[in-house]
Amino acid sequence: MADDCIFCRILAGEIPSYAVAESDRAYAFADINPATRGHTLVIPRTHASDIHDIAQADLAACALLAQDVAARAVQRLGAAGVNLLNSAGASAWQTVFHFHIHVIPRYSGDPLRLPWTPAPGDPGEIAAAASQLRG
Ligand code: 5GP
Ligand code: ZN
Repeated sequence: MADDCIFCRILAGEIPSYAVAESDRAYAFADINPATRGHTLVIPRTHASDIHDIAQADLAACALLAQDVAARAVQRLGAAGVNLLNSAGASAWQTVFHFHIHVIPRYSGDPLRLPWTPAPGDPGEIAAAASQLRG
């Protein structure tokens, strides 16, 4: 348990949460500020701040539990689609520094919008970035 980590405190039962699902390594609970109905957070039981330091087994467990929650969103809430979102770093919108996957049920006509405007990129720059990542 990390000091002053709100999600570790939720796992410890010090802060109440609305449970959705769980496994031996992961826990899923309702987001207190839901983007849509059924918005759920999936977290590892062992503290990790983000994608860079989470153990592989915990990441796999979170992915599997997120898949389970996504299916429940469709089957039980009638979601028309689901977004999975993870943020690493304040620059990427992360506000709670205990790894989590947002499972966001999507409904026809809901207010959520893609946060960027797709537009063709410069092919040379796309290739350069891919090369940098690959090399
Ligand atoms: P982030 O901004 O780091 O991607 O996501 C953090 C999420 O945690 C936010 O969607 C926020 O609403 C949620 N959150 C923050 N504090 C609490 C809390 O005490 N309980 C619950 N259930 N969710 C929280
Ligand atoms: Zn934590």
